[in-house]
Amino acid sequence: MTETTPAAAPRAATFTTHSPATGEPIAAHRVNGPEEVSAAVVRARAAQAGWAALPASRRRDALLRWKRALAGDLDTVARAIAEETGKPAGDAALEVVLTLEHLGWAARNAGRVLRRRRVGTGLFAVHQRASLVHRPLGVVGVIGPWNYPLYTPMGSIGYALAAGNAVVFKPSELTPGTGVLLAETFDAAVPAHAGLLTTVTGAASTGDALARSGVDKLAFTGSPGTARKVMAVCAETLTPFLAECGGKDAVLVTADADLDAAADAIVWGALSNAGQTCAGVERVYAVREIHAELCERVVRRAESLRPGAEADAPYGPMTLPGQVAVVERHVADALSSGARALLGGPESVRAPFVAPVVLTGVPEDSAAMAEETFGPVVAVNQVADVDEAVERANSSRYALGAAVFCGSGRAGAAIAARLRAGAVSVNSVLGFAAVPALPFGGAQDSGFGRIHGEEGLRAFTSVQSTTVQRFTPPVVLTSFGVPAATRERAIRLAQALHRRR
Ligand code: NAD
Repeated sequence: MTETTPAAAPRAATFTTHSPATGEPIAAHRVNGPEEVSAAVVRARAAQAGWAALPASRRRDALLRWKRALAGDLDTVARAIAEETGKPAGDAALEVVLTLEHLGWAARNAGRVLRRRRVGTGLFAVHQRASLVHRPLGVVGVIGPWNYPLYTPMGSIGYALAAGNAVVFKPSELTPGTGVLLAETFDAAVPAHAGLLTTVTGAASTGDALARSGVDKLAFTGSPGTARKVMAVCAETLTPFLAECGGKDAVLVTADADLDAAADAIVWGALSNAGQTCAGVERVYAVREIHAELCERVVRRAESLRPGAEADAPYGPMTLPGQVAVVERHVADALSSGARALLGGPESVRAPFVAPVVLTGVPEDSAAMAEETFGPVVAVNQVADVDEAVERANSSRYALGAAVFCGSGRAGAAIAARLRAGAVSVNSVLGFAAVPALPFGGAQDSGFGRIHGEEGLRAFTSVQSTTVQRFTPPVVLTSFGVPAATRERAIRLAQALHRRR
């Protein structure tokens, strides 16, 4: 019998993106395999050497040049985002503006945050001058999601570049065009460092290749399930990993809150971007006294909102076709386990659009309360008091963002301090997203590590500690030549001091 080797199936070299609203094809992109990803990392490493050698002020100037160029290209970039995600043009433009805020902050602050800093030495090292400095890691791999295809990955890309690294970026397979455009704008604005930011395109296999490519850190944004897989790959080579994952953000509303402001913010936080926001509002805990009134105001605002493909629609289609089934399952599960629909219901789901759904009395253990819905659905549950609201908000596997609506900002901040969430807004929703100096990130299924702010710059560095001996101390304890009795006296002296202080 002759053995035949089956011919390997030809690997698709390209994939095509489609408009979430119409299903029309947008563009074809390459499926970058391991060789292309590795080549991008090698090129990035070469470009990084020159970038890291620049004085911080020159990196700042180059990044600000890129920022100004992006601002000039705002309409083009926003169009690419809107086309690939289906979100309204105004939302896409807002995403670009928020990204520019962050890029500007990272560029202007990296020098100050990361520069060499002297530290005190303590008793045993008075003869030393001690300092630390944050140095770039080298090449950072960034894997991004589709829901904010510019703002979210730039929380890693902009900060990693500002810290002196090169970046290889793998955007979501739903939004590769935005990623490609981003790298093109960098090369055009900073031609002397072309290749410092490279975009590789493809789906899971390209992301997997990036995780295996020898990058010095991998910054991942996406679902907790994928984060676990990518982290397992990074574990094989001890590649440091940063995980920005999903959320199930709660809004707590106290009896003295401004209910109009709370309802307005809840509706926007739950429905904007079709609910496809990691730190979007999915759960509301309102105290008994105001629960009915709040529900009425939420419904009144939400019932006039209709998703659509038009530029002036309040929100667009579901970007990921498969997410529609998740939303459908959560709504059905909630209603079959005792929840009441105050607005909409299963009939709200008309793929690719989902009209607003407002639920109440949703059991805490139902999928709609326990899992990330990522759709325009909000549960407004009643609680006895603030203590119960805090307990329920904290009982989720997710801990990303949260909000508190309260009569006084000070009391709201005290409630915020009791929440596990990584970022909390008092008397607004998502207030933290527009403040570049504030770190962002979560815990448990929301991931770990921080992007944005000073922590977000340091996240893409390694710290080196240095001591420089200023003079030879009378007793050199780090020498075999020190007499035992002298060492004993030094130890007893230190002991006596520590017992008193
Ligand atoms: P996803 O987990 O499906 O994919 C994320 C990225 O991982 C994509 O680029 C994808 O191609 C890539 N990927 C998939 N499998 C991979 C593998 N095996 N190896 C390497 N890469 C792989 O997530 P998504 O649907 O694109 O994004 C939505 C999720 O992102 C939601 O959970 C949302 O809450 C979360 N998110 C979080 C933040 C945040 O900052 N915390 C921001 C935006 C979105």
